[in-house]
Amino acid sequence: MQERTLAIIKPDAFSRNLVGSIIAMAEEKQLSMVSGKVFHLTRQQVESFYSVHRDKSFFESLTRFMTEGPIFVMVLGGEEAISLWRKIMGATDPGQAEEGTIRQRFGESIERNSVHGSDDPETARFEIGFFFNALEVVEESNAD
Ligand code: ATP
Ligand code: MG
Repeated sequence: MQERTLAIIKPDAFSRNLVGSIIAMAEEKQLSMVSGKVFHLTRQQVESFYSVHRDKSFFESLTRFMTEGPIFVMVLGGEEAISLWRKIMGATDPGQAEEGTIRQRFGESIERNSVHGSDDPETARFEIGFFFNALEVVEESNAD
């Protein structure tokens, strides 16, 4: 099934100029860029985006990390895009991530793990809407 997922290149990877390498890894697996932008999020924006984790012990530290510098946020589209992108990212902990995954190659720690990906269709819809308006993620051009 054709799907869309929300992907983030986190501050640890953005600051090491890994945006191009990471996009290339998505494209090699047939995921295509639907939309993309650079953001530098405020604390409030990160708290809202990651609100499902607000009771976790690492929430404060995660918020600090995600606000420390710019991120690249993109919508990726393709066949089974949600699970495929999570497979390309690898396990949350880079030490556990499979050979050849983004987190295994570039992740620095379980927190500074370079990328984010939506985990199911409902989350993807919420996360895409968090960063992009309807015009930015249109299915087809409105030009005639
Ligand atoms: P993401 O949601 O970013 O795609 P994920 O779904 O693999 O990653 P989650 O459990 O949703 O992992 O955690 C969200 C993020 O919080 C992780 O990607 C990581 O940056 C951070 N995180 C998760 N677990 C820990 C932990 N034990 N210690 C520190 N940071 C953590
Ligand atoms: Mg998650």
